[in-house]
Amino acid sequence: MVRILIAGLILALATIAVAQQGPADSLWNLYKQGRFDEVVTQGKALINTGQGSAQVQLAVGRALTDSGHYAEAIIFLEGAASGDRDHTWVYAWAQVYLGSCHWQLGDNQRARRAWIIARDVAATRNATRSAVGNLNAFGLAERFDSWQRFRTEHFSFLFSDRLTNLDRPDFARRREEAYDIISTWFGGGPDEPILFVVWADQTEADEAGMPTLGFARPELNLVHCRVQQTVGHEMTHIISNHALNPAVRNGLVNEGTAVRFDQTDRDRMETARKALAEAAGIPAVSLAALWEDWSLLPTDVSYPVAGAWIARLIAKGGRELFLEFFTDQSLAHAREVYGEDLAGWMRDFEADLRSG
Ligand SMILES: [Zn+2]
Repeated sequence: MVRILIAGLILALATIAVAQQGPADSLWNLYKQGRFDEVVTQGKALINTGQGSAQVQLAVGRALTDSGHYAEAIIFLEGAASGDRDHTWVYAWAQVYLGSCHWQLGDNQRARRAWIIARDVAATRNATRSAVGNLNAFGLAERFDSWQRFRTEHFSFLFSDRLTNLDRPDFARRREEAYDIISTWFGGGPDEPILFVVWADQTEADEAGMPTLGFARPELNLVHCRVQQTVGHEMTHIISNHALNPAVRNGLVNEGTAVRFDQTDRDRMETARKALAEAAGIPAVSLAALWEDWSLLPTDVSYPVAGAWIARLIAKGGRELFLEFFTDQSLAHAREVYGEDLAGWMRDFEADLRSG
């Protein structure tokens, strides 16, 4: 299979000088519609008939990447890169996707090289931004060279070089303990270690052009956090999503669950009441409304309220029902799983929130 493809690739490279923009246009239309199989089939047909421009190779390589065929994608992406001698956007995007393929295949150093090339060629703003974003997200940019890395059973840690006074083994040990507690409760977790990037503070992250910390990306098995965050919040996002693979996610439920399992022993109800009392001039919002629209309240109120609610829901309905409910986090599904009890629990919760 690979040999046939390589033969096609050589043919394609020989014809690049006379290749036109035309054939790739129809591929991009299909690509934008997510019709990756057709991009691959039609793109290969073009390549085999001598119309395999760098753009065609890129379209096929991207479609293969986006459908998870990383090793095969690399062949076409390298064809696209070497076929674009002027190093235009085609070259830059080929390098961005090459980096993604290498990263998916576990070769971090090749991923790093490709993304650095994509960044430094600065051919187009979005490709440059993608490359910089990936280098930062996966801890591969030059700034991380002086950071300390080490592996534990469930984590691959990366610590800021500004955290000179941090007891890193203790930091790691506490997270491993939390991992055991949370993954036991949810009945699973990711197969691979979680890349856990620890920043000194938001200022440092701002200097690097990072988003607001912390955040978790379950699909990438990735956490970026400030050193001062709770032990369990971000890893709960990763573990719960891998254990139960929810088809419908919801802000109130996802964040409330992460707060509930943050491994602090604070009184959730008390924290929520206090947050509500301290917030001036926010609208009166029902739990049902917040469930339907997570953006209704500022985060310093919505997070503690969600945490208190999820703690209440688990206390009332128990673990088994919660795990069943978590796979579809909509209010409609909650009504299905918890039945007629739910309305009363929600009413009581809202009354308790307002009472001192
Ligand atoms: Zn969160």
